[in-house]
Amino acid sequence: MTEPTRRKFINARVYRQHDRLSEILVEGGVIQQVGTGLPDAAEVVDLRGRLVVPPYVDPHLHLDYVFTGSGPGATNASGTLFEGIARWHDVKKTQTLESAKERALRGIREEVLKGVQFVRTHIDVTDPELTGLKAMLELREELADLVTIQIVAFPQEGMYAYPGGDELVEEALRMGADCVGAIPHFEWAREIGERSVHRTVELATKHDKLIDVHCDETDDPMSRFVELLNALVMTEGIGPRTAASHTCSLGSADDAYAFRMLGLFQRSGMNFISLPTENAYLQGRQDSYPKRRGLTRVKELWEAGVNVCFGQDSINDPWYPVGNGDLMNVLDNGIHLAQTMSFDELDRCLDLITYNGARTLMVEERYGLEAGKPASFLVLDADSPFEAVRQRADVLASVRDGDYLFKRPEPSYEVELDLRPRPR
Ligand SMILES: [Zn+2]
Repeated sequence: MTEPTRRKFINARVYRQHDRLSEILVEGGVIQQVGTGLPDAAEVVDLRGRLVVPPYVDPHLHLDYVFTGSGPGATNASGTLFEGIARWHDVKKTQTLESAKERALRGIREEVLKGVQFVRTHIDVTDPELTGLKAMLELREELADLVTIQIVAFPQEGMYAYPGGDELVEEALRMGADCVGAIPHFEWAREIGERSVHRTVELATKHDKLIDVHCDETDDPMSRFVELLNALVMTEGIGPRTAASHTCSLGSADDAYAFRMLGLFQRSGMNFISLPTENAYLQGRQDSYPKRRGLTRVKELWEAGVNVCFGQDSINDPWYPVGNGDLMNVLDNGIHLAQTMSFDELDRCLDLITYNGARTLMVEERYGLEAGKPASFLVLDADSPFEAVRQRADVLASVRDGDYLFKRPEPSYEVELDLRPRPR
């Protein structure tokens, strides 16, 4: 039997205690200690004062859609959510298990190379063959050592607008999907959307699954399915196991309504997932000027102590062409659109793509930078959270269970810029 490798990372600035230099002792894939003056190790890695953060979490991505955006019949001329759904209806008929796996793997590769180690993916189950789901169930197992994947059984064309959609969702849960999905604002009437929210909660309790609903992804302030979802999961006591994705309409809602809802969200413990780049692009399409930003009330949710996180949503698909799995870019856009850039907020905003996402996915037991947790973390090319965000810092290394997923050389120039002022 070989001895497990013991590694000591020195001169690290550990996120949330980054005002001092620390050491991280790793053995057997687990963080043994964080502190100073720690025992020796066979391998010592000098991080030279760089920031160490837990891995990025992408809580909302559509891995069955990735890289279909520029294919035949996929072009979304209006740039709206609803044309995106219509285009996908045609595009999905051409996918095979092999092509779905191949594209998803490319999408996962883009994300992991940018520091993501946890992904929740919505997979369209309004397909009698469940091709995308089968592909993703295989990948979830095959890649489990490298990236943690959760699958949402997502009825893209509706639980009821698509005949038998609710039955396909249940079939997907039986096959191993982790979460129940829904899209109430796409059903053909408010009452039917409400029925889909009721069904979502029934299915989650029946099959002991998490919930993640595409909820109110519209500028229509009368779209208020989040209110029903929140009430039902609060009654069942499963708010922390539930996420409301998008909730764009809350950004257009009357203030009196929105602030009453904030109090109820605090009570339920439900999680919110905002998709800043996609919704800034897709929403406001019926506005002339002024144009709405398309985001939910990220700042108010965050300030109220409601758990809110950011996700990527789309990597080159019929909804949004230029997603690339870069959560730092998503954060950059999100904090601008949500106007959360006080120095205090800048110091903490990495939470929105790390800890808050982990809480939404309920993976906190295996996530974080304390002794006893799996040694999974990123080394960023910055010496503080503020500099990481200001410089949109690159990920220099991604460590998972004590081993490198990748490690890059420090950035360097073949020709150094010489900016010394010259007398003329
Ligand atoms: Zn989505």
